[in-house]
Amino acid sequence: MQVRTRFAPSPTGYMHIGNLRSGLYAYLFARKAGGRFLLRIEDTDQDRLVEGATELIYHTLKDVGMDWDEGPDIGGEYGPYVQSQRKALYLPYAGQLIQSGHAYRCFCTKEELEQRRGEAAARGETFKYDKHCLHLSQQEIDQKLACGLPYVVRQNVPEAGVTSFTDLIFGTITVPNHDLDDAVLIKADGMPTYNFANVVDDHLMAISHVMRGMEYLASTPKYNLLYEAFGWEIPQYIHMTPIMRDAQHKLSKRDGDASYADFIDKGYLKEAILNYIALLGWNPGDERERFTLSELCQAFDVKGMSKSPAIFDPAKLTWLNAQYIRDLTPAQFTAHAAPYYKTAGIESMDVDVLCRILQPRVEIFSQIPDMVGFLAALDGTYDIELFTNKKSKTDAVVSRDVLIKVIPLLKTLPDWSETALHDALMDMAQAQGIKNGTLLWPVRIALAGRLVTPGGAIEIACLLGREEALRRLALGVEKLREAN
Ligand code: GLU
Repeated sequence: MQVRTRFAPSPTGYMHIGNLRSGLYAYLFARKAGGRFLLRIEDTDQDRLVEGATELIYHTLKDVGMDWDEGPDIGGEYGPYVQSQRKALYLPYAGQLIQSGHAYRCFCTKEELEQRRGEAAARGETFKYDKHCLHLSQQEIDQKLACGLPYVVRQNVPEAGVTSFTDLIFGTITVPNHDLDDAVLIKADGMPTYNFANVVDDHLMAISHVMRGMEYLASTPKYNLLYEAFGWEIPQYIHMTPIMRDAQHKLSKRDGDASYADFIDKGYLKEAILNYIALLGWNPGDERERFTLSELCQAFDVKGMSKSPAIFDPAKLTWLNAQYIRDLTPAQFTAHAAPYYKTAGIESMDVDVLCRILQPRVEIFSQIPDMVGFLAALDGTYDIELFTNKKSKTDAVVSRDVLIKVIPLLKTLPDWSETALHDALMDMAQAQGIKNGTLLWPVRIALAGRLVTPGGAIEIACLLGREEALRRLALGVEKLREAN
């Protein structure tokens, strides 16, 4: 049997991390087995459609490198791969089920259903469709059809017995048929529901392994009754646990931290996101944590998939992202950092120096503006206390005297380069008989106006350029004079 898996997202306007992970696992499973991976767009719920959402799905998958073998844009033997374009195809199958008694037309109106739902609630029961229309006579049905009354097609689930199936993660699941409701298969507008389309399409597209979120686990017995009604072979099932924000809550879009694009916008690298989500609910069985997509294709195994929900740990993702950032070439780092340099107002500064001071420190690119904001503008409120540092043997008086000597030196420095700055300052420290730190500390504090800076005095001076560096050093002296 050829392994064929599919990713079947609904175009709702964003790519939830959990959805992307479902697609990733289906992709990895197919690639590992040398099978085929399909993309199917599930757009039968026309109310939820969002303009441009399908393009976003393509874009995201391409961005992370998940290529599909069949899909709406590239076609394939089993197309079309967009459910709305398959609309005409589902009705004859529904007709077949009506003929065989596995489905029936339901003419109940929304209002009637609401009323019965209310009555059930009043009795403390959960409403399950009561098979009202299953009992209509052929004559009644014909009359209603002749009047053009709208109807849906419902699955006729047996009231007795049980339905069992085996999930490759969760094992055998048995559900009393009585617990299943007569789901709508075809809506009044003729569109199939997910309940119907997933079965027809997975069968027609020869899907061998249905891999999807666990929210579909409870409905799977219903779907299997449909496969049986058609006499179709039931696929293997792999249901995946949800990704949680914490023990109680699913990671939700409402928290603003659940979509792939959110993470890209925050300055995470796509390789790190993909690597991290692969580990949310799967482990390789050893200590490895870093995987490229092709390494995942080799390592992936259903045996490593978890039965319990995964908790999304932003700190772990950030840690992993930092590892990926360290491994970038300077040119790659600069390309990713460029928009944040712009935000920080430092886009005209020396990118080599910026890369050298930032690449070892940045964990997420969006941290850059905060880290280097002081380069663009000095925080007006100098904290004089910062000039005092025990280890560097500095205090306000020492700092003032150092800066007074450094200013003329730097004014006349022939070449404003890191090497020239370094040599001149080190020579001066030696000539004065003071520690390098005693000289560099006040310079750095005066230039940055803050305690923690990426890079030292020399790099910061170099980035600021002569004019701005001298302006800040003079300001430092002024503030220190006021304080002493
Ligand atoms: N369209 C469904 C969703 O986005 C897909 C479920 C499935 O993979 O069968 O949740």
